[in-house]
Amino acid sequence: QTHRFSGKVAVVTGAAGNIGLACAKRLAQSGAAVALLDMNADALKSAVADVAAHGVAARPYICDVTDIGAVRDTIAAVVADFGAIDFLFNNAGYQGAFAPVQDYPEDDFARVMDINVRGAFHVLRTVARHMIDRRFGRIVNTASMAGVQGPPNMAAYAASKFAIVGLTEVASKDLAPYNIRVNAISPAFMGPGMMWDRQVELQAKVGSQYFSTDPKEVAKQMIGSVPMRRYGNIDEIPGVVEFLLGEDSSYMTGVNLPIAGG
Ligand code: NAD
Repeated sequence: QTHRFSGKVAVVTGAAGNIGLACAKRLAQSGAAVALLDMNADALKSAVADVAAHGVAARPYICDVTDIGAVRDTIAAVVADFGAIDFLFNNAGYQGAFAPVQDYPEDDFARVMDINVRGAFHVLRTVARHMIDRRFGRIVNTASMAGVQGPPNMAAYAASKFAIVGLTEVASKDLAPYNIRVNAISPAFMGPGMMWDRQVELQAKVGSQYFSTDPKEVAKQMIGSVPMRRYGNIDEIPGVVEFLLGEDSSYMTGVNLPIAGG
């Protein structure tokens, strides 16, 4: 077991969810102290216990990323508790409704943009200000393959993840003078788990020309579109995040790495 991140402090948002927790655990295994942010207090509690089991400092921060004041206070608390922030995995997100664009619910569109774009922006900006002072920072944003090619019935989600790819490119340029690298990952179909089950079920329910109305058939259709003919496992993400946060990617900034089975 390596401890390449000993002495480093990582902030992970959406840390109580599938991808956030898997990545928080990996960073802990590599020796980083981890500040876990999520708005789901119950799930956060068990997530922190999982991460602390790797023998590093781990603390929960209940925070809704859409609440600017809460983000500011939370990041200040993380800095007070841990002394500094080296890494940000900016990952909290919400998949939204499934409906053709002409029927897409407006309130849900706003909610998706609020969490996935505005929330991610505020976390990135707040943490970046701290990193600028230290002239060091490594940031990974969670985009999605839906932010590279828009899938049917996911207007808000795709728009929000295209925005994350853009935000990543801009932030990489604006923050490069301060020794802060900003990259993104774009998972595609990851399973098993809530997001996979939910999208299979809801794509079937929409009943579009693109997918069957039978969820089992939808799952086959989705997997059939993947060159590697399987969905990705959540455990196939943390190594990529660790690579982008660590110094093996020292000359990479502003890139969006697909984790998509081809
Ligand atoms: P998840 O639902 O398991 O985790 C998301 C976490 O974010 C949850 O713990 C939730 O409580 C938290 N969250 C949501 N809104 C929040 C808010 N306003 N403030 C704070 N926390 C909030 O989903 P996941 O699969 O782990 O997704 C993580 C990221 O990966 C998301 O950005 C998602 O869009 C992206 N993604 C997931 C997949 C996939 O198939 N699972 C594919 C591509 C991209």
